[in-house]
Amino acid sequence: MSSTSKLDREQHDTAAAFKAARASVLLNAVLMTVQIVIGWMAFSDGLLADGIHTLADLGADGMVLIVLRLSTAAAHRRTGFEFDRSERYETAGSLLISILLIATGMETLWTSLSHMSDAGVAPSVHAPALVVAVFVIVAKEALFRYIMSVARRTRSTILVASAWHARSDAISACVAVLGIVGSMAGVPMSDSLAAALIGLMIARMGWTLAWKTFKESFARTAAGTTGR
Ligand SMILES: [Zn+2]
Repeated sequence: MSSTSKLDREQHDTAAAFKAARASVLLNAVLMTVQIVIGWMAFSDGLLADGIHTLADLGADGMVLIVLRLSTAAAHRRTGFEFDRSERYETAGSLLISILLIATGMETLWTSLSHMSDAGVAPSVHAPALVVAVFVIVAKEALFRYIMSVARRTRSTILVASAWHARSDAISACVAVLGIVGSMAGVPMSDSLAAALIGLMIARMGWTLAWKTFKESFARTAAGTTGR
């Protein structure tokens, strides 16, 4: 009877984990659209850069969903082979996303630095950009709290990582807000500076992910060669 209730709880946990991951996809899709459209219309490099960051977040969300799905499938079959294969997918996916993040971050950095050099003629950012950027902070902080509560309940490490990511996204949106406020106060360069900082943060996110993936994959290979 205890094994039945354990199975029930596992299924319940899996459902909650998937629900949290899907909520993140939905929120990020909405935020990304609003950030890119309003960022472009209200002349905010910072908001636009943060919108591109949210696009990268969608990629990360996709990875979380894939990892959850593969680990559920592997747990069902309980074979070492499936586990190895799901780990290999995770490694390949993580490396792909880290390369995308580094490239996107550098591109954002480069574009905003070139905008900074002609900031004297750039129009100042419009108020709707500020409203959206503040909304992003609130939404990402709420997402952090929700995912973290599910992560603690289901003891899912990938959800813990995903929750902390949402918290760092809230910080990135704070940078965008500072840039927009600076631009509205008459320093147009501050918005491009914020965009450059966000670009660096995106690239750093990619570098951290790549390094973590390398370390984990190396540890697994070492464990494999010593015969486990
Ligand atoms: Zn992010």
